[in-house]
Amino acid sequence: MRLKLQVHLPHYITKWFPLAIWRMPETSKTVYLTFDDGPIPEVTTWVLDVLRKNKIKATFFAVGENVFRYPEIYDQILEDGHAVGNHTYHHIQGLKTDSLAYYKDIFQAEKLINSNLFRPPHGWLKRNQYRYLANRYKIVMWDVISCDYNQNITKEEVLKNVLDYARAGSIITFHDSIKAADHLYWALPRAIKALKAEGYSFDKIVFPQERQMIYPPSTHFIRRFRNSLRQLSRWA
Ligand SMILES: [Zn+2]
Repeated sequence: MRLKLQVHLPHYITKWFPLAIWRMPETSKTVYLTFDDGPIPEVTTWVLDVLRKNKIKATFFAVGENVFRYPEIYDQILEDGHAVGNHTYHHIQGLKTDSLAYYKDIFQAEKLINSNLFRPPHGWLKRNQYRYLANRYKIVMWDVISCDYNQNITKEEVLKNVLDYARAGSIITFHDSIKAADHLYWALPRAIKALKAEGYSFDKIVFPQERQMIYPPSTHFIRRFRNSLRQLSRWA
């Protein structure tokens, strides 16, 4: 497969974040459509219509402030049987944000979005943020990014990105955002039609809720033990 990093990351890069979900099981010919940055009335309701007509369940990574603004669209996502995930409250980027402020923003969104799924805006996190959040959420990344938000490519290229890289178990990323709308309106129905013709079925991303823990007790214990040793060596 040709290398196109903005669309699909090779295995050795995804290995940097082994606890994150990059792809679902490849055992059945199923793909997983995901929609980031909504819900907004201009785009999300249209996406919901397309999914309903095609009898497809998908996953929406919602931004807290949009859920706050448009609760009725968020409710419609749930009523239609789709999955939802946390995409922070203000769509902030982990790499540029102090970790505590980042977690606060995520927990603010969690008050509105009841989900054990988290997707970091812009796709990247600091190492410590990744480790901390992986204890609390399933961090869902992607196998294929459509690049629907990219104004420098054509709608045909958006469709091609999806069809070139989709495979069994692919998590495919679109955006229910104003920026992506023009590309999405054209490419999404065509992508669904083509993938169906290739024999793919579609599903939402679901992981059973696990007991939530900030740190596993063992790590916490080791950290405390190390700190006391450090104290002792200082006094010695
Ligand atoms: Zn986003």
